[in-house]
Parts: sequence; C-alpha cells; structure tokens
Amino acid sequence: MRHQDCLRPFPARVPPLPGESLASLIRRTAAAMGYENVGRVLALLRERGPLPPHLNDLGPGRVLHYLAALLRQSSETVSSLTVHCCAPALALVAAGRQPARICDSRTILRCFSSAWPVCRLCLAEDEIPYERLIWSFRPVPICVEHGCVLVRQCPTCRQRLREDRLDVLRCRCGQRYSDVEPLVVSSHGLALARRLHQGLLGGGPLLSGMPAAASFWWMDRMAAATDETPDWLTEVGQRVGLTLDGYHDEIAWLAAAEIVQDWPQQFFGFLDVFQQIDKHRNTATGVGRRLPITSPSPTARPSSNSSPSGFRKVGRATISSASIANRCRPGKSSRKATA
Ligand SMILES: [Zn+2]
Ligand SMILES: [Zn+2]
Repeated sequence: MRHQDCLRPFPARVPPLPGESLASLIRRTAAAMGYENVGRVLALLRERGPLPPHLNDLGPGRVLHYLAALLRQSSETVSSLTVHCCAPALALVAAGRQPARICDSRTILRCFSSAWPVCRLCLAEDEIPYERLIWSFRPVPICVEHGCVLVRQCPTCRQRLREDRLDVLRCRCGQRYSDVEPLVVSSHGLALARRLHQGLLGGGPLLSGMPAAASFWWMDRMAAATDETPDWLTEVGQRVGLTLDGYHDEIAWLAAAEIVQDWPQQFFGFLDVFQQIDKHRNTATGVGRRLPITSPSPTARPSSNSSPSGFRKVGRATISSASIANRCRPGKSSRKATA
C-alpha cells in the first residue's frame, strides 16, 4: 500500500482545472471544506514540514506527498500545478545534461512574480473562477487569451492581491475584480506575449539555436537593461499600448521580447540608445549597466569604461546565439525580481 493510501483525504475535494495553480486549488478546496480561509489547510501541511513563501513553489517531498493524499491526487498531478512544471523550459543546466526537473530558487526569483496577478476577464468568464499558474510568469504580464494587462493590485485600496483571500473574485476591501476596467494592449503587444507563452510551452525556439532556458535568461538581462533605459522603454510602450506610469516592469519584458523577435537588428537598435546613458554606476536593481556580452578575448570584452562606439562595435562582432548560450550557465545570478 502506498504512503498516500494510508492517509484520510479531505472529505470535500475539487479536481484541478486546466492550467490551475496550486494556490488556487488550495483556495477552492478550503472553500469546499467550508473553512473561513486557507490558513487551516496550510497549518495542516506545516505539520509535515515547512512551506515555501509562495505555495506555487512547493517542491517534491514529504509535504507535497501529504497534500496529494489529502486531495486524492497523484503527486505528479499536484506537482504539475507548481512552478516546477516549467523547469525544463526555464532552469539552466550544464551542456549535455538532461533538462531540469526542478526550478531552483534563482530561476523562481527570476521568472515568477511574488504577487498574485489575475486576468479579470478570464475570471468573469469562468464557470468556476480560478487562478492560472501562467499568470505568475513574469515574462508574460499579459493575458494571452484577452490581451489585457494582468491586475496586480486592487484599484480601490491599492493593496496587492492577497493569496489568502477565499473569494478569488473579490478584494478584502470589497472591490470585485470583474468590475475593474481591463487595459488591453495593442495587437503587437499581444503577439509578443503569445510568443513568449509558446516558448514556455516548448512551441518553438525563441532564439534560433538556443534552448528556451537560455533564451529566457537572456531576455531577463535585456529586460533589466531596458528597464534602465527610459527613452527606449517609452517607445516600446507606445508600440504595445502602455505608458511607463505603472507598467514599467510589463513594458521591460515586452521590450525584451521585441529584441528576441527581431534579432539581432532590434538589439543593435537598443544598443544605440543604451550606449548614451550613464554606465558608471550600478542600477537600482543591482545590475550593472554593462551588458553580459561574451567576447573572443578578455581585452576585447566590453566594460563599463568602453566607449559607446567601441561597445557597439564589439557587440556587433561578438553577439550570437552561441555566445549567449555559452555565457549563461547554472548559478549565474541575473536580476533581482521586483514584482
Ligand atoms: Zn484573460
Ligand atoms: Zn481592495
């Protein structure tokens, strides 16, 4: 008899819905059980071991097996609701190694939001409203179904959406998210979001000849660089239908997606703007202004003291998919997640 067969499951259970996150399933389970909040379920799980700060980050182990038994689901099914199902497309591994099965903490920090954003249109259309795991994937801040920016904070009380609310449709202040006016991006912005979504699902390379994990790593670097280049960001914002006011992070990721989509021309266009800004200090995100460019020799490597013309010259000569793939290796830190 398997371990989970020995345990008594929850008397009221709900099956996972397509693309649902683990936090969402726990919320719906708590509601089905008649609990006032999800705290009782979490307290039960903590008896078996520590929980991660974000429930969607729960990895394999004793707690996950216990939860699977309570839900009468397989551990594989429960794991498919967590960020670790995206590990093959996101976690960097050494050359020649098998794709990762677990997202390490750096990958989670880089790729997943600590907030709990929702699409108000998806929720309004759902027969059973629930949260999708993809909504916490930082490179895709747009609902790929409706083309609207995901809601990260309540427009009434200005608080970030709380993960422990039992009613997924409503803020603790009473605001119904389905009443929030959707902000729809341009068709160009939606196309960028959909391409990234496909890249996550394994629907073709984002950059020719480069694994998805390396492509997303590179885009993270590009998002960090564009995030510190307001002129470039403003132009991208106009193309995707967003203003910098309140949507900085969203535009930065879409700017990175643009660079990947029109590679390398868009990258060189960005360099023309990037080289005009001050590079003699670190950015607010802790990332230096020097781009992570691999060059043939240490002496040719662009540095913060490189002249603008020299920087571009070296960049043109050395940037390639292969050089990026070589540059990004497991354990290399990139950008501190802010959303
Ligand atoms: Zn939607
Ligand atoms: Zn509120």
